[in-house]
Amino acid sequence: MPNTGLFYLLEVAGDADSEDPHTLRRLRFVRAECLLCHTLLNASTAPALVNVAHGAAVLTCAHCGNRQAISGARFSDFARRLQRGLIPPREDALPAAAPGPAEVMPAAPQRHKPQLR
Ligand SMILES: [Zn+2]
Repeated sequence: MPNTGLFYLLEVAGDADSEDPHTLRRLRFVRAECLLCHTLLNASTAPALVNVAHGAAVLTCAHCGNRQAISGARFSDFARRLQRGLIPPREDALPAAAPGPAEVMPAAPQRHKPQLR
């Protein structure tokens, strides 16, 4: 179910677990529609996308502040339906240098900046 209640998932990409390639370990990118204000989110970094644990993450709409924690099971289920949703672990890949939620980088350029109130 792409409808999480507050968001509608359009695209999910993340690293697969090294033990179970069908399970999401860490999200890299989520494209979703906010069901409150219908803004499209392209979330890859905090604060729009914050990885919690075991593939679970919190999505936050930059426009209206709508926010929801979504389980890893739901993301895994969704990503499994997409051919390229899960990025297989690679032996030679660099260890995920756990940058933590402090990494603040602007995501994809936004056409509309959220209005300051
Ligand atoms: Zn919103």
